[in-house]
Amino acid sequence: MQKLIEELTREPKIAYFSMEIGVHNDIPTYSGGLGVLAGDTIRSGADLKLPMVAVTLMSRKGYFTQEIDSEGKQIEHAAVWDPADHMKLLPYRVTVQIEGKDVQVQAWLYNVKSLTGGSIPVFFLDTNLPANTPENREITAHLYGGDKAYRLKQEIVLGLGGVRMLHEMEFDIKKYHMNEGHASFLLLELLNRFKKPIEDVWDEKLVWDKRSVKNLCVFTTHTPVEAGHDKFPYDLVLKTMGEIVPLSLLQDLAGKDGLNMTLLALNLSRYINGVAKKHGEVSKSMFPGYEIYAITNGVHSFTWTCDSFKKLYDEYLPGWANEPELFVRIGRIPDEKLWNAHAEAKQHLITYVREQTDVELSPDVLTLGFARRATAYKRADLLFRDLERFEKIGTGKLQIVYAGKAHPHDMPGKQLIQNIFNYKEKLKDKIKIVYLQNYNMETALKIVSGVDVWLNTPLRPLEASGTSGMKATHNGVMNFSVLDGWWIEGHIEGFTGWSIGPAPQELTPGADADARDAEDLYYKLEHLLIPLYRNERHTWVRMMQNAIGKNAYYFNSHRMMRRYVTEAYIR
Ligand SMILES: *Cc1c(COP(=O)(O)O)cnc(C)c1O
Repeated sequence: MQKLIEELTREPKIAYFSMEIGVHNDIPTYSGGLGVLAGDTIRSGADLKLPMVAVTLMSRKGYFTQEIDSEGKQIEHAAVWDPADHMKLLPYRVTVQIEGKDVQVQAWLYNVKSLTGGSIPVFFLDTNLPANTPENREITAHLYGGDKAYRLKQEIVLGLGGVRMLHEMEFDIKKYHMNEGHASFLLLELLNRFKKPIEDVWDEKLVWDKRSVKNLCVFTTHTPVEAGHDKFPYDLVLKTMGEIVPLSLLQDLAGKDGLNMTLLALNLSRYINGVAKKHGEVSKSMFPGYEIYAITNGVHSFTWTCDSFKKLYDEYLPGWANEPELFVRIGRIPDEKLWNAHAEAKQHLITYVREQTDVELSPDVLTLGFARRATAYKRADLLFRDLERFEKIGTGKLQIVYAGKAHPHDMPGKQLIQNIFNYKEKLKDKIKIVYLQNYNMETALKIVSGVDVWLNTPLRPLEASGTSGMKATHNGVMNFSVLDGWWIEGHIEGFTGWSIGPAPQELTPGADADARDAEDLYYKLEHLLIPLYRNERHTWVRMMQNAIGKNAYYFNSHRMMRRYVTEAYIR
């Protein structure tokens, strides 16, 4: 063990902090886009042999496993898993103070290994130790579970505990990268490291060297709405963590009327970015006065390409997985082979759907996919706004695969799942609709590769980036989406896919947004997508090529990581 740590700490590292990381489908420590992105970041970092380490929480009871009953009611089960099956417990302990008590934190090591020989250690912080009270042992149990106080405790363990753990292991950290504001407390630990007495004064005055902290820190924000940023009342903060830095300093940095984790990170990071160009702009207007850049997200090409396409790429674009730029040569693949690889992926999905639901989808019917967090702004039921019209357009010509979890506290999100179940029942004999249970990384790959078109209908500008559509493009699946997030950058109408609704320059959508977007959705389905799919195979395959050669070529996490290195890490 000693040797292992010596090996890991030999060179200075970038420390990547994220509340959730999807390292593997069987390790349920992620809830959705943010965690999968963190996993893809690390997978690409390992492929590219970047000197990185990652810190996250154990989430021993996972996010949750989703069951949906016959009426569409979501039932949540704790996703209990045993860390010892996957990772090594390290012989290090650090302590954080919570509600005046010492809480011990241990770390488990999971090594993300690449076929290139690169690897990145991920440390999972865990408070489940006999020395802790039963309540404190649960701090790292539930991802996004509990109330504000519980979340605050988790963020203390992640931020303060994480920096202390890396220090304990004697890592030399050259940058701290906060993936979203959840990790901002690491800044308070760093502030205290850079605390020094003022020279030439009589009393014991201290200064906090903010500049030195800033030079070490990179912050990526993911939230395009004010309410999405973690905020804690100061009385709760003081009660939970004490005055770890003087309250007046904290209020200067994190806001007067509550501790805003995003504001704290904005004030103490040298480099700040949003996760798509538009999101960078939205963030700038939300936080005027800060220099906020944009690095558009990407997905890990090898992870998000299904087997039949992997085989094809290996044959025609050898080296593609570690050099996705090779997708520029997609035209080398014969049309028929591309189509057949897709047909194989579609057949796999059809088989999976049959096993899960007893519904038999048709390989020849245009299949739309919609799988993502079930939450109101994503408008999963927009398709059904005018049921009669939809029925007329789609009967015999469309089928739809849905999946997605609603956060246990998100009642409108849960209602959305039930609504889709109702529509599914109403349209039963006309348009086949399935809702697959327990959306996770494994089912995500099956769905994004097995449908013909990837549908996305968020209410603008609430989709910071979105990444599932990028996964689709790696499998020759076109996007049909509202112009928000990454799609503003990836969309060329009728070439890489199709838009839904108005141009992104049209700022705040009005009260008629649903009606306008649905109108465009129906019109294009009826007059563009369905006829093209049924009658013009040649053009369809051209578009599949464009999805890969233009979208997968760019929206991959190798490109993203190279940009983090040149724009954020070596600044
Ligand atoms: C990729 C992925 C997401 C993110 O999907 P978006 O459409 O970008 O919200 C969420 N959950 C899982 C399991 C994923 O694989």
